[in-house]
Amino acid sequence: MDMQTSFLDRLFDAGLLIDTGVDGLYGRSGQFEDVIVAFERMIDRFGGADGAEAMRFPPGMNRTFFERSGYMKSFPQLAGTVHSFCGNELDHMSLLQCMEVGEDDWTKDQKATDIVLTPAACYPLYPTVAKRGRISLRGALFDLQSYCFRHEPSQDPARQQLFRMREFVCMGTEKHVTDFRQTWMDRGVQMMKEVGLDVAIDVANDPFFGRAGRMLANNQRDQNLKFELLIPITSVAKPTACMSFNYHQDAFGAKWELYLEDGSVAHTACVGFGLERIALALFHTHGLDVAEWPANVRKALWG
Ligand code: ATP
Ligand code: ZN
Ligand code: MG
Repeated sequence: MDMQTSFLDRLFDAGLLIDTGVDGLYGRSGQFEDVIVAFERMIDRFGGADGAEAMRFPPGMNRTFFERSGYMKSFPQLAGTVHSFCGNELDHMSLLQCMEVGEDDWTKDQKATDIVLTPAACYPLYPTVAKRGRISLRGALFDLQSYCFRHEPSQDPARQQLFRMREFVCMGTEKHVTDFRQTWMDRGVQMMKEVGLDVAIDVANDPFFGRAGRMLANNQRDQNLKFELLIPITSVAKPTACMSFNYHQDAFGAKWELYLEDGSVAHTACVGFGLERIALALFHTHGLDVAEWPANVRKALWG
């Protein structure tokens, strides 16, 4: 048994994660959720004075917006669509027949709905803000949290298929949004230090699909567009990204028609906290029994 399996098994044994029979799809115990709630309060403390506008979207988004985002160009392997039965009574009979016989795939006649599973908390935001009209020259700041879906089944407990991302998104001038990103990189390091986690920040890239994707990934790295805050969870040699800091230049602004008051295209940046990963880093570092965590860590989280 490798390290990853054993940490996952220990989490199951401790009841912190609940096995559903699907890799990367877990229930969470009250204790696990308490840690996430406490950490989110800490995020509120660090970012509270910024005056971000809070919005909460459900874990599904408008399929038209998803299509426009270009997600299927970059990450087709990760996407999840919502399909439903849309037939008549006769179709229903053959559906049940098909499920009973179990030879054919009963889902093959399901039809795509208007909803796609949200791949990152910020995706539903851009079209929402674009609809409002021009953005103040002082910039705009948003606070989001959503369950996100990515089809990346794994036995690494830190790689789940449905997980929560807390995000801040900034829109404005290049200077405005790159300052925002730097502020959160500094805060991220400070926050993790307060809860006793070992961190490193490194340049990163998104897993763009295919051969053309390799070039996009290299370009993203060369231009320092993505940074990650890494913490050991299942491996010390390959620590896990628990936060990411993304500068989109004016690419999202151009795609979604986000304009500043002076008519220029808005630059955007987003900062994401992987909430399950942060909880897992805490359990990995301080042990599975919260009562045994160092006093200063408990104090930082629960006051
Ligand atoms: P990785 O390189 O580990 O796949 P990522 O670059 O895909 O991470 P982002 O797309 O930047 O991650 O997502 C923002 C944050 O969401 C990440 O920093 C991470 O903490 C969290 N996250 C991403 N994918 C997962 C996942 N499959 N399970 C749990 N958390 C995740
Ligand atoms: Zn984002
Ligand atoms: Mg990924």
